[in-house]
Parts: sequence; structure tokens; C-alpha cells
Amino acid sequence: MAWTKNVLRVNLTEGTCKQEPLRMDWAQEYLGQRGLATRYFVEEVDPRVDPLAPENKLIMATGPLTGTMASTGGRYSVITKGPLTGAIACSNSGGFIGAELKMAGWDMIIFEGRASAPVYLYLENERAQLLSAEGLWGLSVWETDARLHQMHQDPQLRIACVGRAAEAVCLYAGVINDLHRAAGRSGVGTVMASKHLKAVAVRGTRGVGNIKDPRRFMDVTREQKQVLSDNAVTGQGLPTYGTQVLMNVINEVGALPTRNMREVQFEEANKISGEAMHEPRPRDGRANLTTNAACFGCTIACGRISTVDQGHFTVQNKPQYWGSSGGLEYEAAWALGADTGVDDLDALTYANFLCNEDGMDPITFGATVAAAMELYGLGAITPAHTSGMELIFGSAKALTWAAEVTARGEGFGKELGLGSRRLCEKYGHPDLSMTVKSQEFPAYDPRGIQGMGLAYATSNRGACHLRGYTVASEVLGIPEKTDPLVTEGKAALVKAFQDATASVDSSGLCLFTTFAWSLDNIAPQIDAACEGEWSVEKLAELGERVWNLERDFNLAAGLTGKDDRLPKRLLKEAARSGPAQGRVNELSTMLPEYYALRGWTPDGVPTQETRQRLGLPSAGG
Ligand code: SF4
Repeated sequence: MAWTKNVLRVNLTEGTCKQEPLRMDWAQEYLGQRGLATRYFVEEVDPRVDPLAPENKLIMATGPLTGTMASTGGRYSVITKGPLTGAIACSNSGGFIGAELKMAGWDMIIFEGRASAPVYLYLENERAQLLSAEGLWGLSVWETDARLHQMHQDPQLRIACVGRAAEAVCLYAGVINDLHRAAGRSGVGTVMASKHLKAVAVRGTRGVGNIKDPRRFMDVTREQKQVLSDNAVTGQGLPTYGTQVLMNVINEVGALPTRNMREVQFEEANKISGEAMHEPRPRDGRANLTTNAACFGCTIACGRISTVDQGHFTVQNKPQYWGSSGGLEYEAAWALGADTGVDDLDALTYANFLCNEDGMDPITFGATVAAAMELYGLGAITPAHTSGMELIFGSAKALTWAAEVTARGEGFGKELGLGSRRLCEKYGHPDLSMTVKSQEFPAYDPRGIQGMGLAYATSNRGACHLRGYTVASEVLGIPEKTDPLVTEGKAALVKAFQDATASVDSSGLCLFTTFAWSLDNIAPQIDAACEGEWSVEKLAELGERVWNLERDFNLAAGLTGKDDRLPKRLLKEAARSGPAQGRVNELSTMLPEYYALRGWTPDGVPTQETRQRLGLPSAGG
């Protein structure tokens, strides 16, 4: 099903659900999901709104290929203004709920206002109801999922919800769907909880339709599945090791941020790698990894399903954690592991389970714990703050304790729930927060991968690898190899990745396809499915338009070019080992060129000419 052409508008203050037609003129310019929902968002929301005020809105949006037979066509995104960053937030998730939403007949749901008491949205095809969630408030994601399935007596119900972290106003709470898939970053779950919206439960049975050229769509999606299958990364590496295939690779190139980014290589990386997840454990002889898993319609199946050793200290006498569940993916394994110096795979798996169970972004959580551990080492945080817990690098006990108290918003967990920028400011060391626009870095050190420094600094939702993954080129040689240690050509590389990514994120497809596919592979699939003509050039320009639209929103929200920065550590403290030894990130060399290529002023503002070329609206209307 391409666009259903139906938008559901849910006013939580008034308790109403209304159908309205999709703006098809905007769909031709912004496609769907990230792009189209952002277009709606900037039209309807004052950029200076308090992210947790009822005036902020939250949009759940599918792409035109969501729910189709295109490989990986199961994605949806959550768009809002993020409480962690104060910037536009757009978090993308797989699993099954995106396709279910489409099968129920909806392209997007716009939530506005705030309910006077907790509610959940129950969607049965076109029938939309707001029902009381009084009995669900205070429950974890896993408990909420089980309860809703039981209440509706429908095993095929698909559920996205928030856990206790969001209710406790952890600023990086996510919206978790299908138990362990997450729209995880920037605090989109915190916004959902602020609206007293506990869950969205969807059942869609309307099937697939509205494809422009069904025969051609079948042919082209079949051909492109073959391309994924024949590719070494999407056909072998990701199914076998998941994104965790990267742990040893990134460590070897000297770009694995370690102990709050003080170092760039983790001496125990192998113990927490994708390979290690396959190894039999000494105590029970079972591997950490149970199986791989796929989101709706995906022929890659990169997902990890794993277990914690039942004898491990974290789960002794806790049978609720003895089964298999989602993780570890690379970013979580890095943040919970290398960045905190913890090399205990079972502890990382348990901490990751807790992030899913109560809905926290494991990247920001792990990186915040790493910052807290550095503050503890300096004596700025003491046992008096941590109820006696020794918050030291390498301590699996400290990591898992931190996950428990943060997930529940208890004691020092409340402070960890603010993220590292606010924590480090509070304890007198703001430079120890490894963030851009108040969002924590993911698992690639920009001293060892120069282009990623520029990608992080200019990312519209704060530090993020999923806004311009130049690692593909700089480390993996996709689509062609560039030297990770040079800055020349990186401005153009970052811009190209950012624009293409914005386009893919607007389609309903998974970004991981781009290890094998370029827009050359994607455009024919969109063109066969969607009204209008969809060329590579049109998609590239669409991505650029989306990028500038997000930038516009952020500028109107009060961010400036001065926020396109990196922490002092990455600019002044040289890498201590590996191929990048002696190097810092050279952002100041790349940034002016990037602004010029984007058609922005030297201060980072889109020029009038750029705005006209892309047909940008003014932010907020
Ligand atoms: S590649 Fe992985 S994350 Fe992407 S849709 Fe497939 S299973 Fe999900």
C-alpha cells in the first residue's frame, strides 16, 4: 500500500479522533514519514514551544512503502520537538507496528494537547477510540504490552507504548513497539508520556492496495531483494552478527569511544562483540545469541535476540529475565560497554533488557553513565549521591544498578535521567558531556573518522549516526572508500549522506538497505508504488528539502550555527592509540565548506536563494 491518503488527528485534550485527507501536494514534495510529518509539524507547532507542554505535538508517521512487499518496508517514525535537545526530533523504528498502522488505513497520526488522565489509542482499521489507561500507568513496556493483549484478547494486536522511564520524565525515554523495537532517541517517549498517552494499540486488516503499478512493483522489489541477498554486508554480515559486526572493526580503526571518549580503543572489545555473542558461555554452555530476527517484510534480518546467563548476578532469582529478548545491537553494546569500560556481556544484555523494558535510549543512558563515572572519578559525584554505589569505570554492578534506578526514576536515577549535559553542568564539569545539541554521541569517535565529526556537529537532532553515516564510506568503503583521517572532500560526503538518508527515512524503508542499495535501487521501487514521477534526482532534492526544513525549525527554535560544535575533548585531546593516534577532529576545516555547499550563510542559515530553490515554507507556518 502506498499512501492511504488518510490522517488521523487525535486531540487528547478534547478526547476526539478525526479523520482528514492527507495533503497530497506535500506528499509530492516530502514523500512520507520523516519528511512529510516534519512538514505537518513545522506548519502546526510554534518552534519555541516547551517540548513537554500540551502545545507540542507528536506525530507517528509511515512512509509510502511501509506495509508493502518492498524489503524492509515496515518502518515508521515519531516526530516531535525533543525535550533532551530542544530541537526537532525524529526517531525511526522497525518491528511491525508501522505496517499494522498502514494496514489499518492510516498514513499518520497527529497527537495534540494533553489528556486529563492517562489514555491509550485503540485502532481497529478506521475505528479509533481513546480508552482509559488508568490501569496501565505505572506499568513497564513489557507489562503494558501483555495487559493490552489480554484486555483485547487479540494476539495480533501491535503495540507501541512508553514505560516507567518516560512517566518519570527521563529526558531520553523512547516509544517502544513490539516489545523491543524503539523509536529511541531525543526523548520522543517523554513527550508521549507528557500527553498522558500510554500506548497505541493497532489492528489493521485492510490489506494492500493503492500501488501505482502493481506488476512493476512486484518485479522491481523482487530484483532489489536479490541485490540485498547478494551483498556481503546485507546478505551475510548483518544476518550473522547484526550491527554488532562493527565492534571489532571500529575498534581496530581506532574509533571506538572508550570510557567517556577519553580513549579511542577498548582493550576488551572482543568480549562484547558480535562474535562473542555466538560463543558458548563457560557456565551454561549456551551462547548469548538465541537467533536473529527480522522486522516486517525484511529480508536482511539483522535483529538480535539473546539471553542472560541465569546464573549471572543480575538475574539470579529474577525469572522474568530468563527468556530471550531483543539486543544487543552495536550502539547499545558500545554505550553500555566500551563507553563505561564494562566488558561483561551478560551485564550489558541485562542493562539493554531494562532499556527496552522501561523505554530508555540505551545510547544516551550508557553515555550518561560514562560521564557520571568520570565525574565520580574526579570526586564531583560521591557515594553520598549514589546511595553508596561505587560508580567506577568497568563496574558491571554500577552499570546495572544505574539502569535499574534510572528506568524507575528512583534516587540518583532521576539525575541520570536528565542526560549527561545537564548532569555535567550540575556537577561543575560541563566539558565532560560528550554531546552535540545536548544529545550523546553514538559509537564512532570523530578523531578516527573525521567525516563523522562534521556529521555529528551538523545533525539536526543532536549527535547521531543515523543522520549521515559516512562510516560506510570512510571505514567500510561503501559506496567507495575514503580515508577516514583526511578532511578533504568530507563536507560533500556528509551532505550527500545526510540528504540521501532523509529521503530513505521518508520512504518507509530501513536505512540499513543502503549498505547495498543507493537511490538508484530505491527510486524505481518508489516510482512503481507512488503517484507521480520519482527519479533519483527528485529523491536527492527531496532529502535536501527535508534537511533544510528541519534546520529551519531548529533555527526558529533558537539554535544557531554556534550549536554545530563538538565537545572540547574531541577538538583538543588527541587520540591516544591506533591509526588516529595524535589526531583530533578538524571540524573547523570542514564546517565552512559544508555551509557553502548547503547554500547557507557563513553563520549556518539557509540563504533566500536556497530557500526558494527548495520551496521551503517559513518555520511555524
Ligand atoms: S535491516 Fe534490521 S533493523 Fe532494518 S528492517 Fe531489517 S531487521 Fe529491521
